[in-house]
Amino acid sequence: MARIEVFAPAKINLTLHVTGQRADGYHLLDSLVTFASVGDRLFIAVPANSLSLTVEGPESQGVPSDMRNLALRAAALVPFEGAALVLEKNLPSASGIGGGSADAAAAWRGMTYLKGDVFHWLADAPEPWLQAEMNNLLTLGADIPMCVHSSPMRVQGVGDKLIPVDLPSLPALLANPRLPVSTPSVFKALKLRDNPPMPAALPEFFDVGDLIDWLSVQRNDLQDAALCVEPGIAEVLSVLSALPGCRLARMSGSGATCFGLFETEEAAKAATYELHKIRPEWWKAGCLLGDQMRAAVPRDC
Ligand code: ATP
Repeated sequence: MARIEVFAPAKINLTLHVTGQRADGYHLLDSLVTFASVGDRLFIAVPANSLSLTVEGPESQGVPSDMRNLALRAAALVPFEGAALVLEKNLPSASGIGGGSADAAAAWRGMTYLKGDVFHWLADAPEPWLQAEMNNLLTLGADIPMCVHSSPMRVQGVGDKLIPVDLPSLPALLANPRLPVSTPSVFKALKLRDNPPMPAALPEFFDVGDLIDWLSVQRNDLQDAALCVEPGIAEVLSVLSALPGCRLARMSGSGATCFGLFETEEAAKAATYELHKIRPEWWKAGCLLGDQMRAAVPRDC
């Protein structure tokens, strides 16, 4: 009998530039992605007679526990006799922070770990094997391969080109007004503009302030489209921006979750407390955005 716990950190798009569209309709992106110290938790127990999933936790309402759930579909990609998965949903779904993708990546990490394969630490995995696995996961969702790594990266193409980057950890506050936004509806509302691209080479960031300054002149191209689909997002951006110490407020992914960035953890904590007082009904999380790879490695429990 073995039982493991796998952390599934939220994915945050610090920038998201839409650079074009392929003939098959898929949009081409250039996005600086990082991961939060807040996320879902997946527990996997073996042996089990079949592959099963139970969804629980504060954000579990409406999340499917059948084969529509990405965690179950990713687990099924790893040949294994049976496993009992329990998913603790802490991240709101359909909210632009890749909850389903993070869960799928966690399921893949966990099942591969249990299989006793090569996987203990991604850096140890043979490149051709890892590439083949990532291609499989990509068929389930464009964001899943980046969530497998859970470390800062620049993501290009349709989510298939992952370039690791070094970023200082960012104190942040995530806020979601509990308005689910469907990703396809945002892409439908998107008007492709001839916006300046992200620089080919990122500058060196010496501290948090440097990184926030640079991020301030970048964009999330989906933000305006998401505001058309869900005007309530405007309030989240304005409330975050007005919190003391907030240096930048932006939407992640296709929304509606927005993040506020702060120069210190103390400032982010004070803002989280303040937001809780003024918008108790919103989902919110004070956290650090950065490398979560170590935290995301499966562990016995
Ligand atoms: P992204 O940022 O990648 O667009 P998202 O945060 O907007 O993702 P998800 O939380 O992944 O969206 O949920 C999108 C849809 O996927 C939901 O409507 C839900 O029914 C379905 N879904 C499948 N698996 C999961 C899961 N493990 N957790 C949450 N939703 C899931």
